[in-house]
Amino acid sequence: MSNHAGSYMLNDILQMLEREQVFALLGREKTQRLVLDIIKRAQDNDCNYGEILDNGVAERLGICRYCLNAGQSFQYGLCDECRKKEIDWWRKHCLDSLCRWHPRAGAKVRTAVNNCTDLPALKAVESHAAEWSLQDILRRLTGR
Ligand SMILES: [Zn+2]
Repeated sequence: MSNHAGSYMLNDILQMLEREQVFALLGREKTQRLVLDIIKRAQDNDCNYGEILDNGVAERLGICRYCLNAGQSFQYGLCDECRKKEIDWWRKHCLDSLCRWHPRAGAKVRTAVNNCTDLPALKAVESHAAEWSLQDILRRLTGR
């Protein structure tokens, strides 16, 4: 089990500090060091750093939400290397697989939650990620 409540509380606090421009005062490098220290402490309390860095915090602070690499180029909260891995994963696992609801009909997966788009109730039950097509995701990740 992961401490989701604690992780999102820390995410809120980081966003408060951003709003009050505390990180602007500290500068990027000190901010990254501080946030990585906070994350290290939070992990001892079973927190999840992907959630701590959620809501755009990863991208704005320049800390990868997958590998905690603090550095150069970021998009969607991921460093270049993790973005490449993510793209490869989507290509490998999703693009050619069959819809989990219509496997016998041979419907191909079209969304982030392994569904084709022929399921009307889908939007009501799944997260917003369900609405993204795989092509959208790849476009977002590749920046094209
Ligand atoms: Zn990374």
